[in-house]
Amino acid sequence: MILKILLVLGVIGIVYFLFIKKKPSIKKNKTKKEVQEDASDLVACTTCGTYSELNETLISANKYYCSDACMEKA
Ligand SMILES: [Zn+2]
Repeated sequence: MILKILLVLGVIGIVYFLFIKKKPSIKKNKTKKEVQEDASDLVACTTCGTYSELNETLISANKYYCSDACMEKA
């Protein structure tokens, strides 16, 4: 019984975490112009060369990565 409760709580926690992670709150206070500038700001991934928006790019040691996988390969 307790295991079932823990399992349900764990699933809720994971869903909650993913939901919060996918919802960037930074964009809320930006003007339309600033959002458009962000969208046109593309950077190349250091590992695979894929271009992605700057606000979706991971930055490590002043290098850009499109995903965690590429960051780990570097
Ligand atoms: Zn990449």
